[in-house]
Amino acid sequence: MPLVSMRQLLDEAAKGGYGVGAFNVNDMEQIQAIMAAAKETNSPVVIQASRGARAFAQDRFLFHLILAASELYPEIPIAMHQDHGNSFETCKSAIELGYTSVMMDGSLKEDGKTPSSFEENVAVTKRVVDFAHDRGVTVEGEIGVLGGVEDGHGAGGSGLEHVTDPDQAVEFAERTGVDALAIAIGTSHGAYKFTKKPDGSVLKMDVLIAIHKRLPNTHLVMHGSSSVPKDLQDVINQYGGKLKETWGVPVEEIQLGIRNGVRKINVDTDNRLAMTGAIRKVLWTQPEKFDPRDYMKPAREAMQKVVALRMTQFGQAGHAGDYAPIPIEEIAKGYADGTLATQPLVAAK
Ligand SMILES: [Zn+2]
Repeated sequence: MPLVSMRQLLDEAAKGGYGVGAFNVNDMEQIQAIMAAAKETNSPVVIQASRGARAFAQDRFLFHLILAASELYPEIPIAMHQDHGNSFETCKSAIELGYTSVMMDGSLKEDGKTPSSFEENVAVTKRVVDFAHDRGVTVEGEIGVLGGVEDGHGAGGSGLEHVTDPDQAVEFAERTGVDALAIAIGTSHGAYKFTKKPDGSVLKMDVLIAIHKRLPNTHLVMHGSSSVPKDLQDVINQYGGKLKETWGVPVEEIQLGIRNGVRKINVDTDNRLAMTGAIRKVLWTQPEKFDPRDYMKPAREAMQKVVALRMTQFGQAGHAGDYAPIPIEEIAKGYADGTLATQPLVAAK
């Protein structure tokens, strides 16, 4: 199957009332783990690369690895997404490579650290939307600022300093025309999200629900949404790791989000934990091993297990065969004639 527009993938998720995991990749084994999980659970999927991933793997390696996934798994709809683009140029380069979706994170200035003004965010996001939609490419924007830092990107802090204002979210969506909107509700990037199991004082699900009521046709995106399960932390620490105790976003809170307009859930940390735990276990218990396959194979299997579980929990499992991809040129026409500006490709529930 050719790569699919993320807009189509999320519109279908809205129709079906489920969420879609967006999993970060840097290398071949992670892409293989995601695809094995997608096949196992029959799930559509978003594969995403941060700027750091594009630099680590080099653009053309990563692009062709994801393309290989679409060739090997023709039955699985895959959207290829740029995670946290920091500038128009970053998003333009992803689109020109062949990504079917980009995130313009204008909540931060181009340095990826300093919170920007609302007007700056609107201006740069609108510029990306105009360029992307002309080419049938989906755009995710961000309003409010997430906590933490990942891949050198982020403002730091707890995630509660810049919680999204619902009025601003509405104005932002209307003025930019984004397809999907990342909102800040107290979550942070990285492993250290919460110091205890989060409640409503630190994880603002009420804000998410308020935004969805006012923007029912904009797909909401939860970032920093790994659950950071204790069993994955334990494996790492059991085999010589030194993770401090930490809590992520409980799956039941994500499921509440999915019932209230969340269509894309970003997961990276859980996969990193699973792979690192599996690698540590081999190196710790079998110190004579030196063939990378001896630890990359269990690492890949550990990640597949986490991804398949999330696909089931988010509800995307079983939906890979629901639809055929609409060619990107057709999607571009839908943006140009205004049909996609005012309504989803399919009616949201
Ligand atoms: Zn993010």
